Amino acid sequence: MDERKLIFVCAWCKKVEISKGVWELIKVPDGKIPSHGICPECGEKVRKESGLVPKKKSDRK
Ligand SMILES: [Zn+2]
Repeated sequence: MDERKLIFVCAWCKKVEISKGVWELIKVPDGKIPSHGICPECGEKVRKESGLVPKKKSDRK
């Protein structure tokens, strides 16, 4: 499978990763294969709700 054709769609809010780290609420562009992912916003929400907040360096602001 051609990785460049894959596009991540957030399973929670249905936003699409249009480019690295940029999520927009749009339709999956033609020729792209949607792959389930999670946007940073929902990822954070889910982590908080589940009580699993990893103390990773990358999570600090
Ligand atoms: Zn999301």
